[in-house]
Amino acid sequence: GPATIPASQHGISREGFSRFACKVCTVLQENGHSAYIVGGAVRDLLIGHTPKDFDVATSATPEEVRALFRRSRIIGRRFKIVHVMSGRETIEVSTFRAMHDDAAAETDEHGRVLRDNVYGNQAEDATRRDFTANALYYDPSSETIVDYHHGVADIRQKTLRMIGDPRSRYREDPVRMLRAVRLGAKLDLVIAPDARQPIREMAQLLDNVPAARLFDEMLKLLFSGHAVKCVKQLREEGLHHGLLPLLDVILEQPMGERFVWLSLENTDERIRADKSVSPGFLFATLLWHQVLANWELRKKDGEQPHPALFEAMDDILDTQARKLAITKRIAGDIKEIWALQPRFEKRGGKSPYRLIEQPRYRAGWDFLRLRAQSGEIDMALVDWWLRFAHASTEQREALLAEAP
Ligand code: ATP
Ligand code: MG
Repeated sequence: GPATIPASQHGISREGFSRFACKVCTVLQENGHSAYIVGGAVRDLLIGHTPKDFDVATSATPEEVRALFRRSRIIGRRFKIVHVMSGRETIEVSTFRAMHDDAAAETDEHGRVLRDNVYGNQAEDATRRDFTANALYYDPSSETIVDYHHGVADIRQKTLRMIGDPRSRYREDPVRMLRAVRLGAKLDLVIAPDARQPIREMAQLLDNVPAARLFDEMLKLLFSGHAVKCVKQLREEGLHHGLLPLLDVILEQPMGERFVWLSLENTDERIRADKSVSPGFLFATLLWHQVLANWELRKKDGEQPHPALFEAMDDILDTQARKLAITKRIAGDIKEIWALQPRFEKRGGKSPYRLIEQPRYRAGWDFLRLRAQSGEIDMALVDWWLRFAHASTEQREALLAEAP
């Protein structure tokens, strides 16, 4: 059976958890169900991080959960979960699940699990989770942690260990390879050798994962606050091939590589400082050097520079979307930022006045600055726009006169 670890041993206090998440557990318990805070939050607190959200696992069915909380709703198609809300907080409550018994009938030809929405008991729920560190159940009433797979010991030893046979678990769900890299980087855990070793040879399985799911996972990775470390690790494990056509190509050209690292560092800093980051901006930077290369080819073929740039943008976004389904909205944001770039070259007439009034001017200028920092263009252009944007009318006239 599982180990039940008292507070005196695991050392985390109830205060680390959201009051409301604890309340959700006690309400469920008072109504005859078992209920625990599970997964990332317990893991993060053991490591000393502040959890960003709280998940609850329970023996109650979604309908039973729904009936107990006025502000709650059932969501999910693949499997049902319940969102329980209080103020701005949302707790995700999921019913204990098991892996499918006749998994063969529910997998694609590569062994990827297509359906896993079968209810189970707590032990089964623990076993279907990916890493031992993610399979810990905190009971707010007794302040104990229920640990089926030595997750607490693994965390103490800074190890990210797969539950079960890593190869089978990657085959069931190749995204676990990306999760291993992301969680390892974010939490400073070392991926256990038996889980790390097969990644290189199994990386290709990611080709069969739906593009929308890959995109979600890449967003998590790129916005983890540890994007630089994650992408370096992806590269080391051979996971960047094909996954991100952008990384394949870009990291091979010095200027593109510098641009990507600058942009990822910039993203990490902003996330850690709790500033907003836009996926559009980040993907615009990640794909920019491919646009430039494509544009260059078109110009060599005799296409007109301006329309050629727009053709290049569409080309790159289309290619990317096949692997990694960038949403329409984000693709729109990316194009807006790119489309502003040639406009920064025009420093005469009314054009600069119109440019600084663009709603996306600031993002466009930030992008321009990254281009200069990476050595692609002259920093003097970036400074000129900074001065122009903040200048008085007379100063603007002077700046226009001095522009080349
Ligand atoms: P974070 O939220 O910090 O990114 P997390 O571990 O909480 O990390 P979630 O995606 O929120 O990640 O998943 C919640 C829990 O669900 C995990 O802790 C894990 O137990 C389980 N889980 C998530 N994805 C998988 C998967 N692909 N295979 C097996 N279990 C998973
Ligand atoms: Mg989570």
